[in-house]
Amino acid sequence: MEQKPIILTQKIPIGISLCAMGGPVRYNGKGIDVLSSLGREKNDFTFFPLCPECQAGLGITRDPVHLSGGNGEQVWSGEAEVKNRTGRLVTKEMKQGSLECLQVLQRCNVKAFIYMDGSPSCGVYRTTLKNTKRGNPPGVFGALLLDEGFFLIPSSDLQSPLKWWDWRRRLLAFHWFASHPLHSMQELYESWYALKFLCQELDNTWAREMGRTLASLSKNDFAEFEPTFRSQVLDLLRRPSTTAKITNSLWKHYSHYRKQRGKTVEEINSPTFKRNVTTIAKELLKMERTAVEEDFFFGASPVIYRDEHRMKALEKQKTEEMEP
Ligand code: SF4
Repeated sequence: MEQKPIILTQKIPIGISLCAMGGPVRYNGKGIDVLSSLGREKNDFTFFPLCPECQAGLGITRDPVHLSGGNGEQVWSGEAEVKNRTGRLVTKEMKQGSLECLQVLQRCNVKAFIYMDGSPSCGVYRTTLKNTKRGNPPGVFGALLLDEGFFLIPSSDLQSPLKWWDWRRRLLAFHWFASHPLHSMQELYESWYALKFLCQELDNTWAREMGRTLASLSKNDFAEFEPTFRSQVLDLLRRPSTTAKITNSLWKHYSHYRKQRGKTVEEINSPTFKRNVTTIAKELLKMERTAVEEDFFFGASPVIYRDEHRMKALEKQKTEEMEP
């Protein structure tokens, strides 16, 4: 049976550092609105903005805080501290504020977070914005999110159309698969068939090995294998792709579309055609749109969001086109 696109019609819940949503909550009372670059696409998500430092009761404006004696993980294990500029210890407050923010996300079934990197609290790969220094990553809240297996998106990547496209399609696949129960080997194979092209793009060696493993299993292996399968696929979906891999994948799936449907999509180019990342992102969005309108499975972007209103309009249009 031909694979169809997986279409989600419920908005995707996603946490975000409040200052990255423009909230004036940084130590100096400033914020930066990274969501403005998404335009109308913002409406596809329900955002859960949080500020662990505000939740810690540090106030605005406040002295900036820093990690002392280790990274955020070591703060949790008691080997490091958080201090403000005057040297006052705020470790206890920061832990409490971070835990309370995590509780909100968990209560609301949020599994992804857009974090402000360079913060000793929300940072994941940097905890300082000084020059090119990385500080002591991850930050206190960042360490909690990593430990809890969140899908973590750096807020700066929302400003690049191609990086954001890559994050968004993996986020949708992650969100779908993380909440998609599997009850049998058959269902596990079906989920693999939906995600395998994206997995192949992200790590072909791993995907081939997984394909071989799945071929060697029987239905009796389901209960033992399912947790490994799930955690490895979710781990892979957290990893960004590259421009070269994305353009190759787009061309591969587009070539399949042309062959199968006998049609072309205007303005989609081969990987060797030189163009900027904004143009590549537009081509990808065009291919996604075509896939939804024509029920074609675009394996690079297997899970797509469309709100119910747009889906109903599309169904109506299809019915009208079929009428004599
Ligand atoms: S980086 Fe996090 S803790 Fe710092 S101001 Fe932004 S939301 Fe608050």
